Amino acid sequence: MHATLLYIGFLGSFFLGAKFLPGFIRLGQPLKTSSRKSYKLTGLVLFLLTNGLLIVGALFFKLSLSALTSLFWPLFVVANTVSLIVSGILYFQFYCEQTPETQRGKNSFVAGFWFGKELNPSWAGIDLKMFAYQPSLIGLMLVNFSFAYLQFEKYGELSRPMLLFQVFWWIYLASHYYREDFMLSTWDIISEKFGFMLVWGDLVFVPFFYSIAGWYLVDAGEIWPVQVLWGIGFLYLFNLWVFRSANLQKFKFKTDPHAHIWGSPAQALGGKLLVSGWWGIGRKLNYTGEIGVYLAIALTTGFSSFIPYLPVVWLCALLFHRAYRDEKRCEEKYGELWLAYCKKSRFRMVPFIY
Ligand code: NDP
Repeated sequence: MHATLLYIGFLGSFFLGAKFLPGFIRLGQPLKTSSRKSYKLTGLVLFLLTNGLLIVGALFFKLSLSALTSLFWPLFVVANTVSLIVSGILYFQFYCEQTPETQRGKNSFVAGFWFGKELNPSWAGIDLKMFAYQPSLIGLMLVNFSFAYLQFEKYGELSRPMLLFQVFWWIYLASHYYREDFMLSTWDIISEKFGFMLVWGDLVFVPFFYSIAGWYLVDAGEIWPVQVLWGIGFLYLFNLWVFRSANLQKFKFKTDPHAHIWGSPAQALGGKLLVSGWWGIGRKLNYTGEIGVYLAIALTTGFSSFIPYLPVVWLCALLFHRAYRDEKRCEEKYGELWLAYCKKSRFRMVPFIY
């Protein structure tokens, strides 16, 4: 009961926040109709507000998030149930809006429910696909914090690996929200419909699975000498830089083909495929950088268990497969130009190896 109320309150207040808080107005990528959807981006405001409330709560009201660890499994069940309900509503909502003619020839219930029926569904004027990143990522931040609270309450201090784990995730999330508009040019927003796969991924998979290393840090103590922690910190920062700056370079180029990259005007094959910056060194270094970030986060737990490394394994599988699928798509779209790009930027994800 507690978990249900907590989760519904969390989701509901975020939805109201997305509706009524101020946000940045940005246009999405051109749709098939050539029109562009207008988005109100409230993620940064929600992220800052949540952090602000946590600070006030901790300083003046002795707020603790450690209860989230004892409610972890009930919350997990509620989040799964909400994902099923939301996906079901989206599915039936789509069919209620159809005429018998437009329904004909549509794919099976299972496929429709799993992959979704609508590209950009919205409720009360809120785009659900963009909104779902907030309970997902800010939810992840709260679950992460709960491990720090638990450790502090048990041992009276935070271990260095726990601090690093918290700082790594927080910077990752803050850098996401700093350029939230970048999400508007990603595959998920442009191409994926909003069905159970994305709903569950946002509401369940990201907060409950990506935080998994936190469980291992609570009782682990000081598992690494300081020099190793510096090494992990360097690995993290380097990969975060590659990941975020590669994405930013492509985003800048797509919005302004004459944008400067690494101090010079962007160079592109046929005016379409960027070969400056990271994109001239490897074709998917943004993926490699993100995998490196997840690896650094897992490394904070040492090598006592392989379980904290599962998000890294999962991300490798997802992104290696996605890179393969995306390159096939790009070859079909750009033809000879893509082949010329592959010759110029020879490696896909790991320079000199792959
Ligand atoms: P990309 O950012 O790799 O975008 C791929 C598209 O970019 C291509 O289809 C093509 O689209 C365009 N493109 C490719 N090469 C070039 C080039 N050289 N010049 C110009 N355009 C090019 O893919 P995603 O949207 O999949 O991923 C975005 C980020 O999200 C990644 O950093 C990834 O790591 C991250 N991600 C994270 C996940 C997680 O769970 N943590 C899950 C999934 C993604 P076009 O047809 O428009 O030219």
